[in-house]
Amino acid sequence: MTQLPPGRHGSASLDDTTSRWEPVIGLEVHAELLTASKIFCGCSAAFGAPPNRNTCPVCLGMPGVLPVLNRRVVEFAVRAGLATDCRIAPRSRWARKNYFYPDLPKGYQISQYEQPICVGGFIDIVVDGTTKRVRLTRIHMEEDTGKNIHDAHGNASLVDFNRSGVPLLEIVSEPDMTSPAEAGAYLRGLRTLVQYLGICDGNMEEGSFRCDANISVRPRGTTALGVKVEVKNMNSFRAVEKALAFEIARHVRVLEEGGTIVQETRLWDAEREETRSMRSKEFAHDYRYFPEPDLPPIVVEEVFVESVRASLPELPDARRARFVEQLGLPPYDAEVLTSRRDLADYFEAVVRTHPNAKAASNWVMGDVLRLVKERKLDDALTITRWPLSPERLGELIALVDSGTISGKIAKTVFEEMVTSGGSPRAIVEAKGLTQVSDEGPILAAIDKVLAAHPDKVADYRAGKDKLLGFFVGQVMKATAGKANPPLVNRLLVERLKPV
Ligand SMILES: [Zn+2]
Repeated sequence: MTQLPPGRHGSASLDDTTSRWEPVIGLEVHAELLTASKIFCGCSAAFGAPPNRNTCPVCLGMPGVLPVLNRRVVEFAVRAGLATDCRIAPRSRWARKNYFYPDLPKGYQISQYEQPICVGGFIDIVVDGTTKRVRLTRIHMEEDTGKNIHDAHGNASLVDFNRSGVPLLEIVSEPDMTSPAEAGAYLRGLRTLVQYLGICDGNMEEGSFRCDANISVRPRGTTALGVKVEVKNMNSFRAVEKALAFEIARHVRVLEEGGTIVQETRLWDAEREETRSMRSKEFAHDYRYFPEPDLPPIVVEEVFVESVRASLPELPDARRARFVEQLGLPPYDAEVLTSRRDLADYFEAVVRTHPNAKAASNWVMGDVLRLVKERKLDDALTITRWPLSPERLGELIALVDSGTISGKIAKTVFEEMVTSGGSPRAIVEAKGLTQVSDEGPILAAIDKVLAAHPDKVADYRAGKDKLLGFFVGQVMKATAGKANPPLVNRLLVERLKPV
């Protein structure tokens, strides 16, 4: 391949390149399934156990053992297939993918090759307000490998087989994406979907949702595909987008300088923000796929497919539409709230406690998400770990709507609820935060403020209407924020009328 001087990698800006070159991107996603046990043995599939705790002769690849299929894996694959409009194959089969690596003691991975369980299908993505359909090639089942752990000093490499035999879905797209932004939208959409389906936690950092990208570029207006490169080792959506942008710029630079792209696998280096060559790309025939002799074909009957279809939850698109139509939320709110199933569940629980959907949406998208981010709870799939129960938040909104507290005081109560865990009503009572809606004390405060600012009163009466905001602020300050703001406004206007 053409070697580039250091520092020039990726220096062509995307703006220059998009006019002459069209990127072509296809993604392969590996989603670890949330089954209790592994795919071919009874070992726990849980993440995070001490090394090699969850192992047995089957997942350690001992000779003479026989794999037994976990039925739940098939159910999860069918779920994913139905949610993406795939055709579910009535009959599919297992294949051995042969290669050697220390994390694969059998010398082969049990996967699906010629006859995958799900074929076709699509995912619709939205980029810059435009909807685009990304077709799926297939979804197939396979086992995960163990994990190599390299000693920081380079003295030893260790292998942890806890992950060996954890079930995976490989979801393969057609090369339908033409920009890093589209790839990012596809991945986010797919992750939302597997989370809704309850089949994968979508955690990219822990590696339970992994993405390999195939990328090539071609002169705009042509249809033949350029030489593609596979990029691996990206463990966040941002990393995928950056790696793709880097590769597009690299391809264009090489081609414009008259060089050729080598078909290979490249690794994303997140520290240096560049890709580097890992190995020349292997081809399917290198793996010597052949039918797995230890497992019978998978037969999926129509009645099973229909029972899985009946158990599907409301999917993101449908939920988004319902939030707009039934709850009257703006499309943007509906988009944000349904981007995660747990977030949407939380929001709906708030609304069940007190039916003010727009107020609930404002609190959840603002203060709640801010806290979740601050406390790094983004990946907690359960709202039980969140700092505030939805019922408490609903009660807080009810206190504002009933006029018991002002919106400003509600922010104070919210912070106190998060710190102390108390109920909003108890906090309001204990701290004497109840909104003052009696005219007497408010008028007293108004008279004091007006007496202290005779010049401004004169200016207001001479036509400087904007000073009203100043007086409201002063009165709210004088009442420690407890005065009912609409009442303060009305009384001030009355008092400030020219005498
Ligand atoms: Zn096992």
